[in-house]
Amino acid sequence: MILSTHAIVGGAIASLFPFHPAAAAFAGFASHFVIDAIPHWDYPLRSISLGKGATNRRLSFSTATLTDFAIIGFDACAGLGLALWIFAAEESFWTVVIGAFAAMLPDALQFLHTLYPRGLLHALQRFHWWIHSKRALKGLFGVGSQLAFAGMIAALARSFH
Ligand SMILES: [Zn+2]
Repeated sequence: MILSTHAIVGGAIASLFPFHPAAAAFAGFASHFVIDAIPHWDYPLRSISLGKGATNRRLSFSTATLTDFAIIGFDACAGLGLALWIFAAEESFWTVVIGAFAAMLPDALQFLHTLYPRGLLHALQRFHWWIHSKRALKGLFGVGSQLAFAGMIAALARSFH
């Protein structure tokens, strides 16, 4: 799923146990793989590739690459901002930050894997692709269903507070 959705889910989980940052990190990281298994929509990238056998070693300094990085950066910042806005209270601020970051981390590791496809990174990548849904939702339905999913998780987590 997109980074914003991962961040919201990670932040939601973290907000349930604000005094356990290590548990929030672990649960956030694990949540990434759980929700990636659900058929979903992902925005297309023009230059950066994360698919099977992808390599970004020859990534050039082109408009397409910069646009991709800008989209990813915006997505991640929006995700962190939304997670904090929805879930963070004074005592849970840092735990929510940790949960949101941990939930987005596997996709950063996917990118790292395209540069260094070895060892533990490679094992994790294989798991990521194995669990990632092979059914891509498209268009308005794809976007709408992911919005609805993120909203539902946010509402559910808020109702526990
Ligand atoms: Zn993923």
